[in-house]
Amino acid sequence: MENLRQGAKRRSMARRIKSIFIAVFLFTCTTGILFAEDPYLTKRNQMVERQIKRRGIKDEKVLDAMMSVKRHLFVPENFRQASYEDTPLPIGFGQTISQPYIVAYMTEAVRLTPRDRVLEIGTGCGYQAAILARLVKEVYTIEIVRSLAESAEQRLLESGYNNIHVKWGDGYRGWPEFAPFDAIIITAAPPSIPEELVEQLKVGGRMIVPAGSFYQELYLVTRTESGYKKKSLMPVRFVPMVKGGDK
Ligand code: SAH
Repeated sequence: MENLRQGAKRRSMARRIKSIFIAVFLFTCTTGILFAEDPYLTKRNQMVERQIKRRGIKDEKVLDAMMSVKRHLFVPENFRQASYEDTPLPIGFGQTISQPYIVAYMTEAVRLTPRDRVLEIGTGCGYQAAILARLVKEVYTIEIVRSLAESAEQRLLESGYNNIHVKWGDGYRGWPEFAPFDAIIITAAPPSIPEELVEQLKVGGRMIVPAGSFYQELYLVTRTESGYKKKSLMPVRFVPMVKGGDK
C-alpha cells in the first residue's frame, strides 16, 4: 500500500518536472526567436516606458505605434546603437530625426482618428510618417531634400507601408491635390505659422507646428470657419523649414 502511494507520488513529481522543463524550453525558444528577429525589442520597450509613458503620454494607440515601429531601421547604420536614446540623431544632409518623446508628444497632441488623412512636412528618414501610418488612413509627406525623399520612400515601401505617399518638393506649398487634410504635422520650423498650409486644413482640422527662428515654440493650431486659433504648447528646437525656390 505504502509502495503504491510512493510510486504514484514519484510519477506525479516526474510529470511535474517534465512540464516545467517543457515550459522553460518553450520560453527560451520564443524569446530567442523574438530577440533574433528584433535585437532592439528591449531597448524599444524601455524607450516607451521611461522616455514616453513616464513623461505623461497616455494615448494607447500612440504608445503602441511607438512600440511597433523599429526606429533603428530609420537611422544611419553608424548611429543604430543609439537609436533608442533620449535624443535626436543625425540622418545626413544636416538634418535630424526628432527625439522619440517629441515624436510621441506631437502625434498625441494632434488628436488623430483612424479615418484621418494627414499631411506631414519634412519626411526626413520617414520615421514620423511610419508612426502616423499606424494611426490614420492615409499619410502624405513632403521632403525638400531629394535624396532624403527618395530613400525614405524606398525604406517605407520595403517596410510594407502602403498608405504613405512621399513627394519631393517644397512643403510651404502643401499638397493641394489631396487637400483639405484632417491634420498637418510640420517637423521643421518655419519662422511663423504658415497660413498657406492652414488653408489646406479642413474646418476643425488640427496642425502641430514648431514656429520661430532662434526661439521656437510648438503650437497646436485649429482651423476655424473664419481663420484659425492657436495654443502654445512648449519651447522646442527644430531644424529650419527652408524656402524651396521653384521646386
Ligand atoms: N519627420 C522627420 C524629421 C525631419 S527633420 C523624421 O521622422 O525623420 C526636418 C526635415 O524637414 C528635414 O529632412 C528637412 O530637409 C525638411 N525640410 C526643411 N524645409 C522643408 C520644406 N520647405 N519642405 C519640405 N521639407 C523640408
